[in-house]
Amino acid sequence: KLASREFHPQNSVIDVAGVKIGDGTPVVMAGPCAVESKEQLFEAAEIVKKAGAQFLRGGAYKPRTSPYAFQGLEVEGLKYLAEARERTGLRVVTEVTTVEAIERVVEYADMLQIGARNMQNFGLLKEVGKCGKPVLLKRGLAATIDEWLNAAEYIMNAGNPNVVLCERGIRTYETYTRNTLDLSAVAAVKHLSHLPIIVDPSHGTGKWRMVKPMAFAAIAAGADGLMMEVHPNPAKALSDGPQSLTPENYNEVMRGVQKISAFM
Ligand code: PEP
Ligand code: MN
Repeated sequence: KLASREFHPQNSVIDVAGVKIGDGTPVVMAGPCAVESKEQLFEAAEIVKKAGAQFLRGGAYKPRTSPYAFQGLEVEGLKYLAEARERTGLRVVTEVTTVEAIERVVEYADMLQIGARNMQNFGLLKEVGKCGKPVLLKRGLAATIDEWLNAAEYIMNAGNPNVVLCERGIRTYETYTRNTLDLSAVAAVKHLSHLPIIVDPSHGTGKWRMVKPMAFAAIAAGADGLMMEVHPNPAKALSDGPQSLTPENYNEVMRGVQKISAFM
């Protein structure tokens, strides 16, 4: 299989517009859950850039549990993301939820995110396999590691070798946390695959207080990077406020991440 370590013994290093993922230096993708307005996004981008992230994240197409919840700014959000890249030099990673939106997301983003809810949307996987941009593939809500690697296989088999995996927690019987962050998946994926893997402790826990310890543990476990939600004012966030870091908390997490990364 294309994603397997047997097929490709060396670690793959994925180049996203000049930023290398998987070369030993952990990368950080941070930003709001959703692009809410130009002001909110630009403020978040400044905060994220200052503390040393390489990527700005933010959803323009939001896969919300309820159809009555904020669904995202769509193309307008993509334009703000591209503007924020011009202002900060950050790379942009954003989710694509439908085949029809791929073309537009490719136009504005550096990396396409496949969200947990679409990990087994095989039609979408095949199409992003033909899009020519690197893909961040999140683990499904209840996906086994084998199912997740098979999802990567769909993208790679369609012609796109530039896949980065993202562990974001899975559903278990535990209800205290939003998901159970499976850090053992980092070690398993490193054994089974040559693809880089990053960890999202924001969706992985659903609680901002738990982001720092889980981010530190992810880097110590060998993750190639982190994805974290940061909002200028989490109390006012239109989505995922409870798991979003304030600028102050984000700075603190980043200081620790940089120290731990230096040991790895
Ligand atoms: C996100 O990163 O914006 C997101 C919706 O995450 P997930 O697909 O992991 O739930
Ligand atoms: Mn979110």
